[in-house]
Amino acid sequence: MSLAQQLRWARRGTAYFARKLGELPDAGFDAPTGLPGWTRRHLVSHVGYNARAIARLVDWAATGVENPMYSSPQARAAEIEEGATLSVSALRALAEHAAVHLDVSWRDLPEDRWNTEVRTAQGRLVPATETTWMRAREVWIHAVDLGNGASFVDFPPDFVDALLVDITGLWQRKAQGPALLLAPTDRDARYRVDIDGAQPNVVRGSSVDLARWVAGRGVGDLKADEGELPELGRWL
Ligand code: ZN
Repeated sequence: MSLAQQLRWARRGTAYFARKLGELPDAGFDAPTGLPGWTRRHLVSHVGYNARAIARLVDWAATGVENPMYSSPQARAAEIEEGATLSVSALRALAEHAAVHLDVSWRDLPEDRWNTEVRTAQGRLVPATETTWMRAREVWIHAVDLGNGASFVDFPPDFVDALLVDITGLWQRKAQGPALLLAPTDRDARYRVDIDGAQPNVVRGSSVDLARWVAGRGVGDLKADEGELPELGRWL
């Protein structure tokens, strides 16, 4: 994935999330989402503060001065909770302004700083280029979590493929089972999670349905060779 490609996904996803948020009436903000304990208020608060947190990483890359996404997991959660109590118009403004700020940070990051290593909220050191991918994932998938019409079928096909690589790659790195072999019916690609030579669960379906499933956002039309779809672990 090139940086230009990832930036495009992040920007298109930002526009997609903004459109779905724009279509959401104020009265819909109190409704629950599929994310445990989160209303749409929490979700919008999180997506806004996530942009600010990622902008801190870009700032870190620009200045060389360590600037973590969040000071602690507790601080992250507290910020989301507090944000959720804002008025609907303030929540909309938060999401919009934070996204613009992040985009400006990317625009202004000098070319020779993009490979500077920064630390994700999970503690992993990654080059600053990775911030574009991190944000792309957030905005596309959380648009679906808003629950007012966004769908994985709207995702750019190459972004769907990249999601499958990313999620199975993460499980492989962490050696997190179950052993899987994802076989999209609409692509030649195969995605494996090998766990101690265990016989993988072969799961077939469209790339979109597979991506939705591994991202923990529901089961579309998938078939497992073993009959039952295996229980998946968490992704992020
Ligand atoms: Zn998130």
